[in-house]
Amino acid sequence: MARQLYTARLQQKLLLSDPAQCYHLEFKIDQLEDFAFTPGQFVSCVAEDKNGKMQTRAYSIASAPRANEFDLCVNRVEGGFFSNLLCDLEPGQTVQFHGPHGLFTLRQPLTDSIFIATGTGIAPMRGFVQWLFPENGEDRSQGKPVWLVYGTRYPTELYYEKYFAKVAAERHNFHYLSTLSRPKEDWQGLRGYVQEHVAKIVEERARTNHSGPVVTAAEPAGFDIHAYICGLNDMVSANRDRLIGLGWEKKQIVFERYD
Ligand SMILES: Cc1cc2nc3c(=O)[nH]c(=O)nc-3n(C[C@H](O)[C@H](O)[C@H](O)COP(=O)(O)OP(=O)(O)OC[C@H]3O[C@@H](n4cnc5c(N)ncnc54)[C@H](O)[C@@H]3O)c2cc1C
Repeated sequence: MARQLYTARLQQKLLLSDPAQCYHLEFKIDQLEDFAFTPGQFVSCVAEDKNGKMQTRAYSIASAPRANEFDLCVNRVEGGFFSNLLCDLEPGQTVQFHGPHGLFTLRQPLTDSIFIATGTGIAPMRGFVQWLFPENGEDRSQGKPVWLVYGTRYPTELYYEKYFAKVAAERHNFHYLSTLSRPKEDWQGLRGYVQEHVAKIVEERARTNHSGPVVTAAEPAGFDIHAYICGLNDMVSANRDRLIGLGWEKKQIVFERYD
């Protein structure tokens, strides 16, 4: 059966980083009153290439549900088809898509959570954070600690930095850690790969919250913490391996790979 295609109209476009050519894109679906999805899901954008072939690419939704609107965070890929098509869109122009799709969503009941992202892997994390800690509306985090560990090479690639820092300043249980893998000497923040900081969080949590060993093994009632990882395959694998090495179960680790 053919999938239902929707038309999304670009309303607003913001350049998040010039060097990385990354854009924040806000879309509206005129034919729907409400676009229902679960934070963390993606849409499949569809367009014809210059040879008349239909091309489909997935893009994580970078917002929590908001009437008939959704946001994307897209960076140009050199020689790429769809990323450039999206980044070249101007307000008023449209793109077709189907969805929402995907299982990269917060596990219920909600547990302590570590969000781990690099690059545009931050997109679904923005959706999670908007949903858990809405600006106007009831907090859905249930007071559970939430860490966001965001890694990039350069500070210009830390997208939505101000937003996450603001939420962290306002909510005692949201912790935002950004780390650079190639910082300049004067960089005051964290350095190194995300998995190093994730391991520290896990070890510290085990020391302070739990009398048992560092491992966070399955409990009879289910897991008390999950990790959500999004980005390129190498980073996802490095973090999964690290957590499994710390005694985590595979089911505690939810991930989305972009490549
Ligand atoms: C579930 C899911 C969610 C995604 N969400 C996002 C998102 O929120 N934002 C976003 O920017 N991208 C996202 N992507 C990646 C996106 O689907 C495309 O792969 C990406 O935009 C490149 O497509 P393209 O048509 O421009 O490049 P293509 O024409 O498909 O490829 C051109 C060249 O670039 C290489 N390439 C393909 N993808 C990447 C990449 N991601 N990084 C570096 N090189 C690449 C290819 O190997 C090829 O050599 C997601 C992917 C998946 C599977």
